[in-house]
Amino acid sequence: MQATLRNRRFVSAVVLVNTLIGTAVVAAAPAPKAPKSPPVSVHLPSAAFAALETINPEHIRWHVRFLAHDLLEGRGTGQRGGDVAAEYIATQFAEYGLKPAGDNGSFLQKVPLVGITTTPETTFSLVPQHGGAMDLKPLDDYVASDQTQQPKSDVDADIVYVGYGIEAPEYSWDDYKGTDVRSKVLLMLVNEPPSDDPKFFKGKALTYYGRWTYKYEEAARKGAVGVILIHQTEMASYPWEVVRNSNSGEKSYLKLEGPALKVASWIHLDVARKLAAASKLDVDKMMADARSRDFHPVNLGAKLRAHMVSKVREFQSNNVVAMLPGADRNLKNEAVMYTAHYDHFGIRPDMPGDNIFNGAQDNATGCGILLEVARAYSVAAQKPRRSIIFASVTAEEQGLLGSEYLGKHPPIPAGKISLDLNYDDVKPLGSPEEVEVSGAERTSLYPAVVATAKEFRLAIRPDARPEAGHFYRSDHFSLARVGIPSFSINEGMKFKGHDEAWGLAQDREYTQKHYHQPSDEYHPEMDFTGDSAVARFGFALGWEAANASRRVEWEKGDEFEAARLKTQ
Ligand SMILES: [Zn+2]
Repeated sequence: MQATLRNRRFVSAVVLVNTLIGTAVVAAAPAPKAPKSPPVSVHLPSAAFAALETINPEHIRWHVRFLAHDLLEGRGTGQRGGDVAAEYIATQFAEYGLKPAGDNGSFLQKVPLVGITTTPETTFSLVPQHGGAMDLKPLDDYVASDQTQQPKSDVDADIVYVGYGIEAPEYSWDDYKGTDVRSKVLLMLVNEPPSDDPKFFKGKALTYYGRWTYKYEEAARKGAVGVILIHQTEMASYPWEVVRNSNSGEKSYLKLEGPALKVASWIHLDVARKLAAASKLDVDKMMADARSRDFHPVNLGAKLRAHMVSKVREFQSNNVVAMLPGADRNLKNEAVMYTAHYDHFGIRPDMPGDNIFNGAQDNATGCGILLEVARAYSVAAQKPRRSIIFASVTAEEQGLLGSEYLGKHPPIPAGKISLDLNYDDVKPLGSPEEVEVSGAERTSLYPAVVATAKEFRLAIRPDARPEAGHFYRSDHFSLARVGIPSFSINEGMKFKGHDEAWGLAQDREYTQKHYHQPSDEYHPEMDFTGDSAVARFGFALGWEAANASRRVEWEKGDEFEAARLKTQ
């Protein structure tokens, strides 16, 4: 879900109308046939345009049909079905004549993973200065995991309240104020200081500083041993049940490459109230105090005594990475990247009935699009100036882990990757009249995105709930974190022949009945015209970025600008 080429050379409107008609013809026909009459574009080079015209919804269908088959066993990370899917994608890349860009001349990049389950032997007590210890009940009162990837860890440390736990120089905000928090446990709030000012933590929109993952990472960088997040439904934008469910059972991580917390935890708001009261404090006042720039950390005079016992399981999975070398002698050392995750949830043996999580829409569709875009580039009679990297990543459903590894270990230096375009969960509902490109407006590519959308007769649909932070919840974000201008391309809610209410109803039904459920399956009546349309749209954008004289960059002052500058 979730960039300004100054010299725009684009497909003409007339040409694109032809394209869209061509697509519709293909979708209605029983067998796919090549759209006819590749006209000459004054914008994209004619070779690019001819290649774009070969993008075919039925090709995307075939990939989805296979990848979502029961025989693929739900494409679980580190499971047989996931490995079969990776091998299928690698085989397609090979057939297209792309160069392997994984480990040791192969298409596969090994991603080392660790699964951690917090066991019932774990104990977690809050010990106030006065009064008895509060022994917390797992899942009801708290959830915790040990991120050091050790089977046992002990913590007995002072609890320091650090407000939002954010240090953001670009917004002149520092909750830590230089306080030494080494070996401390940090109590903090989720989200970020509320604001309507777009220049202050992007107003209503959530920035990465508001995500719990940032808070854990920053605390670990500062040498803290633990973090306790106070859950509050409005601040988190989801209820305690979500925290509880996503923390019961095994959690996966990349094999440790940096500092980590012995205790990464959440507590229920009621528990936070009791803890504060025992320190003669009031949670509501603490929350209010945190909204001020003048906030200073407060030592509660209480301790966390935790005995963490974890089951630690090492396993591995693979990203599938291919490259199409660029045509320009110098610029071929740079690249434009396309990504889509292939993993889903696998099989749940303990579940009665259909227990295969096929992940047809999430994200066989994105893989089908990625493969079809890759195939179209490979048949182009002339190649773009920069190289193109195609990466189908693993372990997205486990927390964007495959893409995180790819960002940390890219096939060429991150600073030389101009742009990442990601596809995740693209509805097979017919011909779209809208496109969603949340995050694109933060990059120098945006004017080109607007112009291309117009040529494709797609309205740009704004993010309906920027405060929910969707930008931070798909794979493009892992690449933004290492500075690469990145965003996802998807359809909006309006489809040809239907009003917006229909699109919203379809979306709601999918979310409620099929999203992350075994019923997210392939059906022959699925219509991949829209998947093909966003594939063509992304192909045109990627080609534009790959041929432009300058790399795509983040807009000035963007939260990822510093990461980009570090790699230049
Ligand atoms: Zn998913």
